[in-house]
Amino acid sequence: MRTTTNKRDLLRWPVLRWIGQHRYGRLYLQIPFLLAALLLIYDGFTGPSNAARNLSTVGAWVHYRGIVVLVLLLAGNIICMGCPFTLPRTLAKKLSLRGRRWPRFLRNKWLAVASLFLLLFLYEYLDMWASPALTAWLVVAYFVASFVLEAFFKESAFCKYVCPIGTFNFAFSTASPTQIEVKDPQVCKTCVGKECINGSYAAASVVRVDQIPINGGAGGMAEKRIEHNRRGTLGCGTELFAPQIKSNMDCTLCLDCVRACPHDNIGWMRRTPGRELGQRGAWPARWDISFLAIFVGFIGIVNAFGMIPPVYDLLQSIASFLGMSAERWSPALIEFIALGAIFVLGGLLIPAVLTLGAGWMTRTLTGRRHSLRHTVAHFAPAFIPLALGIWTAHYMFHFLIGIWTVVPITHNFLLEHGITAFGTRPDWSLGGLPVDSPLVGLVQTVALMGGFLWSMILANRISTREYGRDAVPALFAWALILLGMALVSLWIFSEPMEMRGTILFD
Ligand code: SF4
Ligand code: SF4
Repeated sequence: MRTTTNKRDLLRWPVLRWIGQHRYGRLYLQIPFLLAALLLIYDGFTGPSNAARNLSTVGAWVHYRGIVVLVLLLAGNIICMGCPFTLPRTLAKKLSLRGRRWPRFLRNKWLAVASLFLLLFLYEYLDMWASPALTAWLVVAYFVASFVLEAFFKESAFCKYVCPIGTFNFAFSTASPTQIEVKDPQVCKTCVGKECINGSYAAASVVRVDQIPINGGAGGMAEKRIEHNRRGTLGCGTELFAPQIKSNMDCTLCLDCVRACPHDNIGWMRRTPGRELGQRGAWPARWDISFLAIFVGFIGIVNAFGMIPPVYDLLQSIASFLGMSAERWSPALIEFIALGAIFVLGGLLIPAVLTLGAGWMTRTLTGRRHSLRHTVAHFAPAFIPLALGIWTAHYMFHFLIGIWTVVPITHNFLLEHGITAFGTRPDWSLGGLPVDSPLVGLVQTVALMGGFLWSMILANRISTREYGRDAVPALFAWALILLGMALVSLWIFSEPMEMRGTILFD
């Protein structure tokens, strides 16, 4: 039974509707992603060792990352929707149906923050962008970790609590222009099975009858016969309950809820971009969620800083300050400690201290109306647009100057495997925009300034909403942090940046 149509629902479009409703809709979407991942693994292990000529490194570090930020900004968390790492989920889930719940003390974002931090640190320390084999190992590690956690725990623990890519996508999908929503909340009130979260899978067939209101109750009630059986769908793996969803945080856009809902009551709705960021109560007032929102911006700055020349001076200074000399310490250990210090300081300590300091200042200047945790939670969502701007400016740099590199690299890959249909000489001159192209600078500046302005508008709105006539003093410290982040980022992007993963970097 179709309940209501909604013009904001993207699932009205036939292809998306088919993906959302067909039992294997997501699987068909995942297959191309799976093939791409297998190709990255294969070329990473067997292809050219030159990173700029290997599909693994160029695909993962230039094209994938560039596409991720664009897709999050323009559509939503489609990367998680097509993610091939969750493909073993169905098998793993069947193994884990009698499995354990993810430990309670880990049901938060701290492990996710740690895994994103670790990935970005290792990417820099191990020069993953320059190593096809390491990049391939990373993809393999994703498959293994996803399968193991899915097999051992009932919920989608890997996606929700561990995956660094998912953490990045969850954080920035909060700025996206789409969200999962129910079409008619009245239908949910009388829905007995709550299949969107509980699933419709049953080892033995079970039939029940729901009384469902027609047109919000105006058309009376209708009976609907619902069967759960082995062909049923799993409920939401990240344990979101569709009628209560206010945020994209933790939504992988798997559309399992759409498939499971027996009343066709869930849509993938258009919304104002970033609507939830200014909405009171859209996010729980938790330290881990607030820190994640602030952390993704600071670690973005640290990550970009790692690619400009001053980082080498700073590494040297830290090594000297700590008394680490080349005679007594190996260069690898010196770099590990000095780079680790930059990451810990810039990615963890500075944001933690600034956040607590800003929260304390807001409470002091406004008469301590809210707890420190609530104060920080109010302003944390305002950091997302600037953070997205920082990552967009960074990834677009690599993407735009290396956008066509995939053509000669693929051509070369085909030649190495005896396929000469496209000629015998790859055109290595194909790259992208010149590194000093004004367009690259323009895109970076627009992303950064656009993110900053959006963040400031949000912070101002939040401050006015929560503090009324004390809005200006409440906002003061947060505005200073956002301004500082924007200025530091502007300086970083005005410095010459390493052109990783492009032919120019040979
Ligand atoms: S979304 Fe569907 S399955 Fe979930 S409570 Fe509402 S009607 Fe029931
Ligand atoms: S709410 Fe849950 S089931 Fe629905 S699309 Fe998001 S992650 Fe998937």
